[in-house]
Amino acid sequence: MKICMVGAGYVGLVTGTCLADMGHNVICVDIIKEKIDNLNKGIIPIYEPGLEPLVKKNKEAKRLSFTTDLKAAVNKSDVVFIAVGTPPKESGEADLSYVENVARQVAETIEKYTVIVEKSTVPVETGEKVKQTIKLYNKKNIPFDVVSNPEFLREGSAVEDFMNPDRVVIGADSKKAINIMKEIYEPLNALMIVTDIKSAEIIKHASNSFLATKISFINAIANVCEKSGADIEKVAIGMGTDRRIGRNFLNAGIGYGGSCFPKDASAFIKISEKFGYDFELMKAVEKINKDQRKLFLKKIEKVLWIVKDKKIGILGLAFKPNTDDMREAPSIDIINGLQKEGAKIRAYDPEATETAKKILKDVEYCKDPYEVAKDAEALVILTEWKQFKEMDLDKIKKLLKNPIIIDGRNMFDPDDMVKKGFKYISIGRK
Ligand code: NAD
Repeated sequence: MKICMVGAGYVGLVTGTCLADMGHNVICVDIIKEKIDNLNKGIIPIYEPGLEPLVKKNKEAKRLSFTTDLKAAVNKSDVVFIAVGTPPKESGEADLSYVENVARQVAETIEKYTVIVEKSTVPVETGEKVKQTIKLYNKKNIPFDVVSNPEFLREGSAVEDFMNPDRVVIGADSKKAINIMKEIYEPLNALMIVTDIKSAEIIKHASNSFLATKISFINAIANVCEKSGADIEKVAIGMGTDRRIGRNFLNAGIGYGGSCFPKDASAFIKISEKFGYDFELMKAVEKINKDQRKLFLKKIEKVLWIVKDKKIGILGLAFKPNTDDMREAPSIDIINGLQKEGAKIRAYDPEATETAKKILKDVEYCKDPYEVAKDAEALVILTEWKQFKEMDLDKIKKLLKNPIIIDGRNMFDPDDMVKKGFKYISIGRK
């Protein structure tokens, strides 16, 4: 199949590369020339495990190429995936201007029957709007179909997730388009769920909103545990082993971040509002998530009392491990909050430092956890990188001014930490 992937970001680049690896011919398009030039030189713009060798392999096999020329790429393709960003507007609604822009250009370009696939996460009814737009600008009345094919990959394990999905959702109202989509995904041998376009769009928003709900739910329980003297880790195991509940996404901490959950939850609230439904549950989920960061700041201030002029060491900046993505990372609010009170921040992240430098100012970036710990009044863990679990805690203790660790990700056992001589503060535990 000849495929054009518009948008070579976290989703587009991974999806395009994996589709090429499945045997399709893929042209990835992006408007950022530097990104495309780098990809053509073999430089991968993001950190994503396993992606670099896969790009190299498929480029060499001539199944994968990169360009800024959308029209030429669309003309050579049977299927065009739209994988551009759908960031939140100030109001919380999804900004669909990038999707509209691509739909318009595709409409003006197509010369033969083409399937146009919404890969980006979009609110319900976007498919209809995309169809209208294409009809409007497709002056030659070339036949086309629109398909919703939401993506469920997770940054940090994106290649693995794409290649082994729990399901592939195909929302379409044409048999021809459904068959083409099935043919594309056939090599994955995955469960395919075929629905109408609107249901597919809602499946994505509902899935992310549900996962965000699970996180906020366990964080709310963590707060009750903390107040009552119970232990959230034990509660999560006790709850999660019930197969109806499941253990995943029951990790208490400083809440969710990233480019998906916050934006998709608020977009879902907004689109529901448009239909006249007040999605109070999701509003509470958002509030709990925001409060969790504030509560964590209070925890730090409770231990250190005055943070002004104190050196505070931060471990982890990315919104989660195994990515360099800083979008909506809890670290941003927490570091900003500490800086506002006059704290001096030094930080380390295995992959996100370069991204962080563009967002967080007046931070001393360090080369490893030990440099962060040196003479710091306390060490604060914000991302659960495996590397932190494996660090030499005795060495850390010697380097710190005070043996204090405030752990926003519950990485260590509190009893072990006390035995090691730390004052250890975590989430939802004594
Ligand atoms: P991203 O910002 O990393 O990538 C988007 C890319 O699109 C950018 O490189 C941008 O330059 C490019 N672009 C914008 N307008 C363009 C145009 N007119 N022509 C060509 N390229 C254009 O975003 P992302 O994280 O890959 O997310 C893309 C979509 O996928 C979003 O809707 C997101 O919600 C969804 N999604 C993301 C994830 C994730 O983990 N990041 C997972 C599932 C779904």
